[in-house]
Amino acid sequence: MRQELGILGTLVVAALALGWFSGSYLPGALATLGLYTGWHLAQLLRLAHRVAARGPLRAPYPPGLWRPLYAGIERLRLRGRKHKRRLARYSDRFREAAAAMPDATVILNRDFRIDWANRAALELFGLRRRIRGKALSEAVPHPILQTYLKNGDFERPLEFNPPANKGLMLSLRLVPFGRKRQLLLVARDITKIYHVDQVRRDFVSNVSHELRTPLTVLNGFLETMLMGDNTHNPGQHRALELMHGQTARMQAIVSDLLTLSRLEFTIDTEHWQPVPVARLLSGIVDEARALSGNDHHQISLRADPELFLQGDRDEVRTAFSNLIFNAVRHTPPRARIDIRWQREPDQAVFTVADTGEGIAARHLARLSERFYRVDPGRSRKSGGTGLGLAIVKHVVNRHGGALKIASIVGKGSSFSCEFPIAPPDAKSKNG
Ligand code: ADP
Repeated sequence: MRQELGILGTLVVAALALGWFSGSYLPGALATLGLYTGWHLAQLLRLAHRVAARGPLRAPYPPGLWRPLYAGIERLRLRGRKHKRRLARYSDRFREAAAAMPDATVILNRDFRIDWANRAALELFGLRRRIRGKALSEAVPHPILQTYLKNGDFERPLEFNPPANKGLMLSLRLVPFGRKRQLLLVARDITKIYHVDQVRRDFVSNVSHELRTPLTVLNGFLETMLMGDNTHNPGQHRALELMHGQTARMQAIVSDLLTLSRLEFTIDTEHWQPVPVARLLSGIVDEARALSGNDHHQISLRADPELFLQGDRDEVRTAFSNLIFNAVRHTPPRARIDIRWQREPDQAVFTVADTGEGIAARHLARLSERFYRVDPGRSRKSGGTGLGLAIVKHVVNRHGGALKIASIVGKGSSFSCEFPIAPPDAKSKNG
């Protein structure tokens, strides 16, 4: 700044001297001003040219105001370059790490076109190297994957066999990220876990099937023996009654286990139809009143007759009746049970709320596990198998919904099944 003032001062003195010698100050002043602005204009053009060339601003810099300006621009340029290099280093490191990951990792743009894929993705999905820009559904042509992408609900992972590696079972997740609404696809090979799970499922299913026939025979004979028991031996009669009760309980467990394995094995949703839930519920409520019998539970039903649920009628019946019968079996006589089926802004909600004893908070998270009971003795006595809520959860999940349980000890419990509202075209197509 001081240098600039010096230059300006020198020019003013020169202009004054010129004026004094020539006897007129104006031409000298104009000439000095022209010289001064012309020089600055030339410096400005030179700087603009050098900045546009994106090269370094090498010293020596022009004097005056230009010197700190040049130095400042050069400093910013160097800092920007350093920043860029650091970013490039980070980006390389990320790419190397993602490339080395054993899970398939793919970056997709918002139209599900591939932007980048790591080595594992190329191998697991059988992709070629030049894959950039290709639609995922074309690169990995599988109907289940296409439906998954179309539905746009990525909360739950998708399990499927990639067409290029049919022997594998992959669990695929899609996570949206960034301002450009890109998606990160991560797929894990779960073939081993899947097989172990399948062996478990097959085992449970086979055992249940094998037990069904002997239990039916046993129960039938015990019933006949009970009816024809005229030995007047109270001990024997009691023993027969107990045996009959226990075989009936075993039959109920086997039946629930078979229901669960059916739910696990069938993934087909082709036959799904709009289920008239309100009509279904009025039938279940009649059965619940019969189950309540002399306990006179106060059961109320409010159901929207216009609200349908896209799904499997038998499964929905099983789930909803389980919740209603649970409310009857696990609440004291005369307790109030309110059943609701209603539309909420973006979901259809089925709720069974009772005024029973409630369930302590520590049990709530585990309630839908198989055979988990708050009070095993009481559950058995009331005819429970301990599998009811596991079945409910399975059915609700299969229908894209969620089971929510809330309870306050001493006040009662509320079991809600929340389903996303079916898109209008699904309804009109089927009903
Ligand atoms: P169960 O055949 O024993 O009813 P479920 O899986 O249906 O098995 O339920 C698991 C446990 O949850 C039950 O044993 C009971 O302790 C508890 N439970 C279920 N529904 C209710 C309810 N409405 N009120 C209180 N406890 C309940």
